[in-house]
Amino acid sequence: MDLDLQPFELDLVEPLRTADRTIESRRGFLVRVRTEDRRGLGEATPLPGWTESYDACEDALERAADRLSVRGPDATLDELADAPAARHGLSLAIADLRARRIDVPLLRELGGGSRSRHLRVNATIGDASVSDTVEAAEHAVADGFDCLKLKVGARSLDEDAERLEAVRSAVGADVTLRADANEAWDRATAEAAFERFADASVSYVEQPLNADDLIGHAKLRGGSVDVALDETLAVANHDRVLDVDAADVIVCKPMVLGGPDRTIGLARRGRRAGVRPVVSTTIDGVVARLGALHVAGALAPIDACGLATGDRLANDLGPDPAPVEDGTMTIPRGAGTGLRLADD
Ligand SMILES: [Mg+2]
Repeated sequence: MDLDLQPFELDLVEPLRTADRTIESRRGFLVRVRTEDRRGLGEATPLPGWTESYDACEDALERAADRLSVRGPDATLDELADAPAARHGLSLAIADLRARRIDVPLLRELGGGSRSRHLRVNATIGDASVSDTVEAAEHAVADGFDCLKLKVGARSLDEDAERLEAVRSAVGADVTLRADANEAWDRATAEAAFERFADASVSYVEQPLNADDLIGHAKLRGGSVDVALDETLAVANHDRVLDVDAADVIVCKPMVLGGPDRTIGLARRGRRAGVRPVVSTTIDGVVARLGALHVAGALAPIDACGLATGDRLANDLGPDPAPVEDGTMTIPRGAGTGLRLADD
């Protein structure tokens, strides 16, 4: 098996703020693997603060390209344990190739059935004033979304509670509301937030506390608002997260977790421990978004996932065969990811 890399850069419609920086574009690598008669395509798009850096990703993939034909896929993947985005790119490419070889959609290669090709996805509503938040929420519901995730934590708790209550009265009882605090609060503020947000029937709050604070998260559980962990999964030992009962929900990002195989493994371990997984992208190109869609499909039935992120890119790696329609994404019928591979 041979591996070949193609760097790319995709502009973001609006800059993306991570914990320690603001980025204007998503840079990464298309990862092509090839045997005598088959090809597979993956994507490695590192997100600083969540995965290895761009340079470390490039180094890891170049090493993998040297070794793949000698050591084989499994040993090469093992060597990428410390470079999750690089491992994702190779793991997705190999799974895509294997699925194409037996002419099945990627989710079957990943161990999924074919219950449904349709997956509900959430809309993300950014931080904004009460009126702008309500307007964005109404817009999303008019577009067919029945699950909205509001960014919170950038303003006072009173303001965030007001935003959620205003959205709840605007969209009615049937729409699922989630909030994402991205580690913004201390324990006391988080406790108060969980009480206030219960009034708006918020289903869960993502990452209320610092990623390392497993015990703090465990203590927030037990009320009507669930605890979801996202940033924690990039830094903490996953067995320990499950052992201390830190989460009701885990937000599984294949790019951060090291590939589709790893993501499905974690999601299944979570389920055995009574934790619900949702699958989310790291604002990736179409290849990785499709990979994440197949991961969610392999885990279906599954709660609404964070896969509706294609519109945050100003340009993409190719046409999207799974656009969001009525708050739903549909897994393409073709083999592998469903992307048509160019001949070169
Ligand atoms: Mg999050």
